[in-house]
Amino acid sequence: MMNALTPTVPQADPGAAYRAQKEEIDAAIARVLASGWYILGEEGRAFEAEFAAWLGEGQHAVGCANGTDALVLILRGLGIGPGATVATVSHTAVATVAAIEMAGATPLLLDIDPDTYTMDPDELLSVLEEPPPGLPPIRAVIPVHLYGQAADIRPILGPCREAGVKVIEDVSQAHGATLGEAKLGTLGDAAAFSLYPTKNLGALGDAGVLATADAELAERIAALRQYGWKRRYVSDLVGVNSRLDELQAAVLRVRLPRLEAANARRQAIAAAYDAALSGGPVSPPMRRPGATHVFHQYVVRSREREAVQARLKEQGVATAIHYPMPVHAQPAYAGRVPLGPAGCVETEAAAREILSLPIFPEMTEEQVERVCSALAAL
Ligand SMILES: *Cc1c(COP(=O)(O)O)cnc(C)c1O
Repeated sequence: MMNALTPTVPQADPGAAYRAQKEEIDAAIARVLASGWYILGEEGRAFEAEFAAWLGEGQHAVGCANGTDALVLILRGLGIGPGATVATVSHTAVATVAAIEMAGATPLLLDIDPDTYTMDPDELLSVLEEPPPGLPPIRAVIPVHLYGQAADIRPILGPCREAGVKVIEDVSQAHGATLGEAKLGTLGDAAAFSLYPTKNLGALGDAGVLATADAELAERIAALRQYGWKRRYVSDLVGVNSRLDELQAAVLRVRLPRLEAANARRQAIAAAYDAALSGGPVSPPMRRPGATHVFHQYVVRSREREAVQARLKEQGVATAIHYPMPVHAQPAYAGRVPLGPAGCVETEAAAREILSLPIFPEMTEEQVERVCSALAAL
């Protein structure tokens, strides 16, 4: 039973992930400290090779400073910037939209499918057919695989290819999830992964990685991330500084082999929540048929969200909202970024009703049970 001394179940706990792997991580960090080489070295190269191999045959991976930069580097590597529109969703981490503007392009924000919270492919197909007036041509689309689940990108891949529109997957919340036979991140022209500490694959600080099957694009981006250097001190391209450091790469090498098990644990926790919610007033999240969900977040929806959140809090269960304000409603973007013809109506409704329950692989059985009994009592 809950009493005043029972600690709250946190919504996420990156410290628990470190403690669970302390020996291996400490050894990896000590190895880098002793090596005397801290940026773009053997650890980074090994992580890139291991990540590319994990993702799939023929993939090339380039490490960088964070997930936002991974998107910016892909856009720049593809030559997409000023004079181009990039379609994405408003229901995402602001980083997705910020990256488009950092590259100099114009974002176009589309609505979501209300069951899976991911881009409505029909709206994308309609803007490809009939581009919104007054905008530069659409050159790329960034579908976001949200909460651990694939966006419905199969219907858009063919039309995008025909129209010369690049598909850049934002896989920052879905490392290891699949759509059909394919791992997310292998379906489009390139893919960006944030490796922020709370992501399914996370570093102990900022980190990111991008992947593509296009070897030339990977090579160009590898130069762009370090001042445009292909050889030392000579900039063949106008680049930036967005490097992955050796400490983070070494930590990620400890964690990559454990990702599948960590995702399986997230799925088991999700199944326990499904059972606890069954027959109650709040429905479990929908799963896209033919896809695997890796539960970066377990998101429920309720018109009485604030009441549900308060009742869970009373039971010692922390929750979060991802995200409470759509990008197009945020002060820096409101009235300025163009929306698609659907006007982001479903996005706004979702932002009012969604709630993310605690989910992280190191949750103890006792913590899971505590959340389940709070859910069963809703
Ligand atoms: C976390 C996240 C990002 C940004 O990653 P950073 O590493 O914080 O730059 C981009 N897109 C999505 C969907 C994310 O969840």
